[in-house]
Amino acid sequence: MTVPAMQQPPTSPAQALDELLAGNRRFVAGSPLHPNQDAGHRTAVADGQHPFAVLVGCSDSRLAAEIIFDRGLGDLFVVRTAGHTVGAEVLGSVEYAITVLETPLVVVLGHDSCGAVQAAREADGTGATPSGYLGAVVGAVVPSLRRAAREGVDDIDGIVDIHIDHTIELLLERSVTLNRAVRDGRCAVVGMSYRLAAGEVRMVRAMPASEDVTLVAGPAAFTAPSGS
Ligand SMILES: [Zn+2]
Repeated sequence: MTVPAMQQPPTSPAQALDELLAGNRRFVAGSPLHPNQDAGHRTAVADGQHPFAVLVGCSDSRLAAEIIFDRGLGDLFVVRTAGHTVGAEVLGSVEYAITVLETPLVVVLGHDSCGAVQAAREADGTGATPSGYLGAVVGAVVPSLRRAAREGVDDIDGIVDIHIDHTIELLLERSVTLNRAVRDGRCAVVGMSYRLAAGEVRMVRAMPASEDVTLVAGPAAFTAPSGS
């Protein structure tokens, strides 16, 4: 199989999103191209990286970023924690990517049946605080549980969607750098939910009746045309 090299890494949020979604479609279809994984590319990117997307995703072992988006070396800047919980080091990593590496897209990636969300719900229900640092993960998910309760959402995957949304809001609230980059149009933040069995991602804030996707851009959302 011929593996086409990406001519130029995407430089706009919309291009980056299109590239990611195209890779996920190849993965779902069982026809991955495994781009940028050969020895020549490995050598080419040794002197510098220009990843086109930052992934803030759950650590779940089935959520391997380069595999599910069919990408290779130097393409994705990946930050993963259980339940995509966001602390100072995560924020610093995101800020490094969007400022130093000029990465145009931040993706918050959750998934169905998320164990961290389930564990938080169980702990919240019983009132038992998990021991050690596990408590920090659970504690970071609890605000999403509260919001789900207020909105009458009870199923685990609905709660995951809310938690993805909550994580986006946290990133934009806590990181002045990211917020400014989004307002300036240099970067966008999107939320996706991954289905473990099907292998496909779903835009949490996608426009369902349209080819277009809505990029979450702080208070004012904007729409980016697909296929650009
Ligand atoms: Zn998870």
